[in-house]
Amino acid sequence: MDAISKKDTGKHFVAIFGGAVAGSEAAYQLASRGIVVTVFEQSTLPYGKIEDGLPKWHHKLRDQEEQKIDGKIDHPNIWYVPNVRLGIDISFEELRQWGFSAIILATGAWRDRQLPIEGLEDYVGNGIYYQNPFVYWFNHKHEPGFNGPAYKIQDDAVVIGGGLASLDVVKILMIETVGAALEKRGIESDMFTLEKKGIGPTLESMDLTLDDLELKGCTLYYRRRAIDMPLSPMPADTPEKLEKAQNVRQKILDNFQRKYLFRFVPNSTPVDKILHEGRLTGIRFQKTRIEGERVRPIENEYFDVETPMVISSIGSIPEKIEGLPWQGQVFKITDPKTCLIEGFDNVFAIGNAVTGKGNINESVKHSREISTGIIDNFFEWQQGEYENWHHQTVSKVDRDIDQIIGRIENQEGLPENVYNEILEKVSRMQKKTGYDGNYRQWIEKHLPVRLENVSG
Ligand SMILES: Cc1cc2nc3c(=O)[nH]c(=O)nc-3n(C[C@H](O)[C@H](O)[C@H](O)COP(=O)(O)OP(=O)(O)OC[C@H]3O[C@@H](n4cnc5c(N)ncnc54)[C@H](O)[C@@H]3O)c2cc1C
Repeated sequence: MDAISKKDTGKHFVAIFGGAVAGSEAAYQLASRGIVVTVFEQSTLPYGKIEDGLPKWHHKLRDQEEQKIDGKIDHPNIWYVPNVRLGIDISFEELRQWGFSAIILATGAWRDRQLPIEGLEDYVGNGIYYQNPFVYWFNHKHEPGFNGPAYKIQDDAVVIGGGLASLDVVKILMIETVGAALEKRGIESDMFTLEKKGIGPTLESMDLTLDDLELKGCTLYYRRRAIDMPLSPMPADTPEKLEKAQNVRQKILDNFQRKYLFRFVPNSTPVDKILHEGRLTGIRFQKTRIEGERVRPIENEYFDVETPMVISSIGSIPEKIEGLPWQGQVFKITDPKTCLIEGFDNVFAIGNAVTGKGNINESVKHSREISTGIIDNFFEWQQGEYENWHHQTVSKVDRDIDQIIGRIENQEGLPENVYNEILEKVSRMQKKTGYDGNYRQWIEKHLPVRLENVSG
């Protein structure tokens, strides 16, 4: 459908930034109630973490979730504008002057939480790397013409983390190093099989070990214990349930290590960097102990780890946007129930942009029973966790958007001239990015080459 001929169906006009799980759901809910929406997305495609953060071996889940997003954004009341980044291509100040009925930020959590080591940031790309750009590279490196930063994967890498995403990083490192070592011996392997079957079982079937391949494997350092890892969604609100959940977490980790052959060092928190000739060559850790919920560093118990590569995976937080108030590591919200950003009466944040870490807690609290079968099948378990997160993000957006719609509908509609001017500006921006209003065609044209189709 031609964007210019879209029907004027309402007097409210809402801007949403970010078109992924949260943004597309919010846009769809508003559009279904007759409110006209424009979805500004910084990337060409509106898929966010699903495209760039969910490792590409989950391709079925990725396709399924992306199709859901397409089904929502391709609505006659929604104007999609790709390649527009709030804070860069348009400032928040300028946007405010357009006169939208409401502005909703669904911009996700893309900034890696920084390791608390002074001066470490000077070595990013030079011994220390962060999870978000690393997974982005892994997901896209096979695409012809990929020109993002490249990573030279090294054996004996250190991963700092402990959550689900850090396990993805561990898997990527093991798959890449083992795949390359097999290739060196003239043995063909493919990423999907190494991931699904596991590295341990694959090597066993070839009568090989990591030693034979002259590999050490990477090591995951975690500040808590294995039994504290957010690996099981089982409830842990009584001592008995906690014990059961801790047993399951330990089993999942043991199973995961057998499958992917990485090492695990608990009770260790990074405190300093080790440098050599202008490069980061290691990390100093301090031992910790767990007291109740708290992590206590143990005085004078340090150890140094030399490594060619450190990847930090300690969580993601929203990117700051100039002109919007900030508190701690998220946008400053007046009241979490309304998602209203402090100092405004029509600017809201939803999805990972507002919940950040809170969402993780919500997701691990749910009480899905975990069967032994699932513990044994790490792939299914991980996929289930991601699916569950997406599902939860959508239901939380549904709850939040009801409040937001209530507030919008209480306001007066926009004067016709303001409404028409916004429409004019939106359509100019669409044209500037080369988007002609046909959402499905745009997606078809820009969907990247998929590895599963290349490797057959
Ligand atoms: C590795 C990994 C870790 C995960 N961790 C968690 C977790 O901790 N908690 C949880 O609940 N779920 C997590 N999930 C699940 C999932 O990410 C979320 O539930 C859901 O995808 C979040 O959707 P979102 O729309 O809020 O954010 P995103 O998927 O991040 O989408 C944000 C969108 O906004 C766009 N955008 C960003 N900034 C701008 C800007 N300035 N202007 C315009 N557009 C912009 C982005 O390009 C993107 O399309 C994780 C998923 C993965 C793959």
